[in-house]
Amino acid sequence: MIDALPPLREVIARHELRARKSLGQNFLLDLNLTSRIARAAGDLRRADVLEIGPGPGGLTRGLLAEGARHVLAIEKDARCLPALAEIAAAHPGRLTVLQGDALQIDPRAHLTPPIRVVANLPYNVGTELLVRWLTPPDWPPFWESLTLMFQREVAERIVAQPGSKAYGRLAILAQWRCSARIVLTLPPEAFTPPPKVASAVVHLTALPEPRFPADAKLLERVVAAAFNQRRKMLRASLRGLDPRIEARLERLGIPPTARAEEIGLDAFCALARDMGDPANG
Ligand code: SAM
Repeated sequence: MIDALPPLREVIARHELRARKSLGQNFLLDLNLTSRIARAAGDLRRADVLEIGPGPGGLTRGLLAEGARHVLAIEKDARCLPALAEIAAAHPGRLTVLQGDALQIDPRAHLTPPIRVVANLPYNVGTELLVRWLTPPDWPPFWESLTLMFQREVAERIVAQPGSKAYGRLAILAQWRCSARIVLTLPPEAFTPPPKVASAVVHLTALPEPRFPADAKLLERVVAAAFNQRRKMLRASLRGLDPRIEARLERLGIPPTARAEEIGLDAFCALARDMGDPANG
């Protein structure tokens, strides 16, 4: 028992929360598991937590049980609001629920730093939200960590290293300014209803500074071009960005015949810096 509220199965039955596929609804009903996910987010007692997609509130209850100072939960499905209101009533002043689309709502006015984001994300919007959180106009971002459930394949792309098939734009975006690791893997049966594939929780911590200096927009362009044609050699995939790419790569000691998936973060940043330097134009 993590709290005095009724079991989630009962809550779901009483509020008739039949899962909707269109909203990516796969619920976690095991409160020991949701508490474990909350613990993976670190010490929440001095933090405000942003949760996207609380649904019937399993993870929300885990976050509150683990002592989160305050939880702001954004849920699109109005059917879940009465169940969430019961949780708010059991934890006076510690849970605020906003109803709406997390892609449209700016949560920052409702949050006090330090802020941690914890979510069992709806699959249909998960990657888009992650990319937004990783590419704010200024760094460090508004959050100090992200603890997020994804399909395992997406989680593996976030933590991937050069040389692996999963390595690409998401790995570079995440690892340039964060440390990222998979903290938990879950089989489909952990959810109700079970999704088709396994899931994993990724914990990302924002670094105070990027690992290597580079202009974010330029780095993004280089990485997008390189991985859009990931089977091509860099001298071909990057020619569209710069007709003299081959000489540039050679000067930087990056083999022009290498493919994007063989190139580390340091080399991509060096390339972005070189392209941004008017002396090297
Ligand atoms: N957190 C709950 C749990 O762990 O059992 C539910 C997770 S379920 C995978 C995803 C939740 O996100 C659903 O409750 C769904 O209604 C909600 N959702 C889907 N799209 C959303 C959006 N654009 N903005 C906010 N919530 C959304």
